[in-house]
Amino acid sequence: MRGAPPARLAEVAIAGRSNVGKSSLLNALLGRRGLARTSRTPGRTRQVNFFLVNERFVLADLPGYGFAVGSTADRQSWGPLVEGFLRERPTLRGVALLVDARRGLESEEADLLAFLDSVELPAAVVATKRDKLGRGAAGAALAALRRRVGDATPVVGFSARTGEGRDALWRVLRGWLEGPPRAGTSDRL
Ligand code: GDP
Repeated sequence: MRGAPPARLAEVAIAGRSNVGKSSLLNALLGRRGLARTSRTPGRTRQVNFFLVNERFVLADLPGYGFAVGSTADRQSWGPLVEGFLRERPTLRGVALLVDARRGLESEEADLLAFLDSVELPAAVVATKRDKLGRGAAGAALAALRRRVGDATPVVGFSARTGEGRDALWRVLRGWLEGPPRAGTSDRL
């Protein structure tokens, strides 16, 4: 991908529709320490921002989407750029998909999860703005998400406001980053 850093360090990607709380999550997750934007792909709204975190790994911030991804013939592409990146990036270990805890999975998110499964990339679902739901409603929303995505996909409730879910999300990311490279690749250029 033009503009992407060399495929050297292990990477994780963060995806979610506009306004889901992605910037807030990135701030809560990373703060400012140890964070440097390494590069960005060309294009204004559809760009991927790459952050080098603690000199250890790369976090790819995927552009917000509003269209389906995957293989349906009439799809409005989320961007061949992003799809190609997810399909082929050898150093990518997993994708955290953000959904608003109040909205749950919509068709775009379901399509993206199916696409990630088809390209054998691990996924996690992060239910954002959890603080906007009461305890009972948040628990029910997370349980519904878990039933929907199945056991192989972790579901993490998250609030940038309270910090809830931050450690749990870090555990998921760390598991990917410390795990084996992507199947069928050697993590080399
Ligand atoms: P992005 O477009 O996905 O980057 O979303 P932002 O991070 O800019 O957040 C969109 C809106 O949701 C803003 O008004 C945020 O203040 C709000 N927001 C984001 N995260 C949270 C959260 O955890 N709790 C609450 N209550 N509001 C949030």
